[in-house]
Amino acid sequence: MSKISLCLLLIAGLFASSVQDPARGARYMIPERIERATVEDDEGKLQWAEWPAPECGSCKGAGTMVCATCARFAKDAKDCPECGRKDPKNLTACRACAGSGKIADPLDEVPCAGCMGAGMLLCTVCGGGGQLRVGAAKRWSKCPACRGKGKFDCGACKGKRVMSSLVIKPSLREADVDKLRKAMKAVDASLALFAAFVPQGGTKARKEVKALGKAYDAMKKYHPSFKAMVKTSKSYMSKIFAGAQFQGHAENEANTMNRLKANAEYYLKHQKRMLGLAIARAEANAGK
Ligand SMILES: [Zn+2]
Ligand SMILES: [Zn+2]
Ligand SMILES: [Zn+2]
Ligand SMILES: [Zn+2]
Repeated sequence: MSKISLCLLLIAGLFASSVQDPARGARYMIPERIERATVEDDEGKLQWAEWPAPECGSCKGAGTMVCATCARFAKDAKDCPECGRKDPKNLTACRACAGSGKIADPLDEVPCAGCMGAGMLLCTVCGGGGQLRVGAAKRWSKCPACRGKGKFDCGACKGKRVMSSLVIKPSLREADVDKLRKAMKAVDASLALFAAFVPQGGTKARKEVKALGKAYDAMKKYHPSFKAMVKTSKSYMSKIFAGAQFQGHAENEANTMNRLKANAEYYLKHQKRMLGLAIARAEANAGK
């Protein structure tokens, strides 16, 4: 088999068994399967091979996807917090590649740990529609959580949909073994906090928001966006609590926090994989 077709197969495999989550609307690379080739230089040291920037497996290179936010809106809905409903097919930027159509070098760029590529945090009280009809009321009224906007700002990416890799000096690519191992420890500690975080919402919700903040906080030294998410998650959830007058709010609060948890876990698992590859390279180069 030629090198190129093998390479294509590997890339296809990255997405093959990824689950298409309807709420996320996109297929993301499976962190544990991400490969990043190295080449030996003249001194026998391993250097990172050039990244081939493969086509995004989720949008097949188009850079767009049918908006997942307004998929369940009424057909004549005029606005959507993600796509704006200006396109006749409701196309919006692909969440998996931030609209580029290509997979960026995983050593440098990762889907946002806050929003996972949506570029915003959805108001889960109104589902993004901005309006609610309560009980037997005939009239629609503005959603009390988002006041009609349908969304909140993502403090982690500020709308960019992506985040850089962990901040390690001089970089995740080139850092020495000790620094990389230290970062790996921090990632494992944060992952353990997220794994132990099983929100139920309702009367427990306020306490749970604090626990969520702690899990983000464990990574604050390694990325300013995690530091930002401590604050963002708190203010986001305080707005979602404005839906406490509605039936099923506890479940909705739990689901909202679970979504934040899953988004952060994806980023951390992605970075755990990249750290593992970087450690293997650094160890080989250090002769250990
Ligand atoms: Zn894409
Ligand atoms: Zn939309
Ligand atoms: Zn974001
Ligand atoms: Zn709302």
